[in-house]
Amino acid sequence: MTKLKQYKMFINGEWVDSESKKTFETLNPETNKPWAIVPEASAKDVDKAVKAAQKAFEGEWPKLLPRDRGKFLRDIGNQLRENAEMLGEIETIDTGKLFRETKKQANYIAEYYDYYAGLADKVEGTVLPIDKPNIQAITTRIPIGVIAAIVPWNSQMFLTATKLAPALAMGNTVVLKSSELAPAVIFEFAKLIEKTGLPKGVLNVVTGFGDPCGKALTTHNLVEKIAFTGGPETARHIIKNSAENLSEVSLELGGKSPVAVFDDAKQDNAINGIVAGVFGASGQSCIAGSRLYIQKGIYNEFLSKLVQRTEKIKIGAPMDSETEMGPLSNFKQLQIIEKNIKRTIEKGGKLKCGGKRHSFSNEGYYFPPTIIECDNHNLPTAKNELFGPVLSVMKFDTEEEVLKQMNDNQYGLSSGVYTSDLARGMRVSKAIRAGITFVNTYRLISPSAPFGGIKDSGYGKEAGIESIKDYTRVKTTWFYTSDEPSLDPFSMR
Ligand code: NAD
Repeated sequence: MTKLKQYKMFINGEWVDSESKKTFETLNPETNKPWAIVPEASAKDVDKAVKAAQKAFEGEWPKLLPRDRGKFLRDIGNQLRENAEMLGEIETIDTGKLFRETKKQANYIAEYYDYYAGLADKVEGTVLPIDKPNIQAITTRIPIGVIAAIVPWNSQMFLTATKLAPALAMGNTVVLKSSELAPAVIFEFAKLIEKTGLPKGVLNVVTGFGDPCGKALTTHNLVEKIAFTGGPETARHIIKNSAENLSEVSLELGGKSPVAVFDDAKQDNAINGIVAGVFGASGQSCIAGSRLYIQKGIYNEFLSKLVQRTEKIKIGAPMDSETEMGPLSNFKQLQIIEKNIKRTIEKGGKLKCGGKRHSFSNEGYYFPPTIIECDNHNLPTAKNELFGPVLSVMKFDTEEEVLKQMNDNQYGLSSGVYTSDLARGMRVSKAIRAGITFVNTYRLISPSAPFGGIKDSGYGKEAGIESIKDYTRVKTTWFYTSDEPSLDPFSMR
């Protein structure tokens, strides 16, 4: 039997087991076998991590020149670039995501650290046009304190960067909770952080389950802000938890993103965008464009081309450079997908391709890209977030009709429009209730592009210039500017 890789948590600059010595195994989705063993944090471990972060916040870190904090961020970016191959491999083993994607992402995520390094010394305050004589008042932006950053298993490096980079740039300290489903890459990342010489306690990493680890973190009285990415059910717990410590909360949640293809769309471009948007990362992306509306003039032709292209997707081992789709990350996900497909077919949905567990491996969580034609978008696969490679397809007639349908869902994260009429692209984009709209493209991210949703997809944006301010609080300072004594305190002038 191969020996399992052992990880430790990173608390106050030291590598530690959990106090209880409890551990859990993380599975390789390609084989369904454990490959690494990680500590399971209890409330005591979380308390240690938060106190270390608080101590670091009371130390030199927030007092450093912003430019000097920026230098640490650039070092983190460089570490990511230099170790992209290793990080990619570990993330692939733990999540089943394609190696060529995880490696590329590790490289690209370095840009987020560069971006916020550049912004570290560009956050300014204001001089207030105050309505009182002999008074000057200003506002400055101050760091918040200890930030609890909580990430789900998919794209942990990206979702960590969008929280950690602005938080550190502004002088906060962080306790990062990785997902229990794929924690390994975050430990490897913490090893790289250690190499940069970041002061002790500025970043702490804990692993464990929602309860007790996540709960202890989000209720801790020293935590001032919770930056959460995950599902809406967990978000509801987190909001309740934050009533204990009155911390600020930002939420990046799920999606059931609609995509409309109009008769005048460039079809080959639309097909590429749709396939990338819903089958990339085996559909395990929060912005997956999983509800497709095709205009009736091209419906049959377009759907048939889309099915043909989808059937060509090469499924295989995630480390193989030829593979286009790897396994799902966990067995629970596979079961949810199967259940939703079964119920949709029972209610009249027509399977166009995929739909059954892939025979590629009896052990790994392989599921083929699946397209289901639905006569309405209330069928389960068209309505629920599945977090898997399943596309539900509906027909529409007019722009007005499709807009109504696109907006008829609890989520509002992403959306897409394919049309050669740019005026229509702009109109539809304005009318869609979603945080992101892609016109004639899909599945793009950038450090300078705000990312996040509305409705049940959460609140608070990550990435972009504005989000750095979310890691600060406004402070008002009043100056008395006269040499004369101030007014008699009992005169009410
Ligand atoms: P999840 O909500 O189950 O878990 C996310 C994290 O929350 C994990 O680290 C988990 O341990 C932690 N957690 C669970 N219970 C908790 C509690 N009571 N208190 C504190 N923390 C707790 O999500 P998941 O299944 O890992 O990920 C999939 C979900 O994440 C999907 O809904 C997906 O759309 C969403 N997601 C959103 C974005 C985005 O940016 N909008 C990006 C990626 C994933």
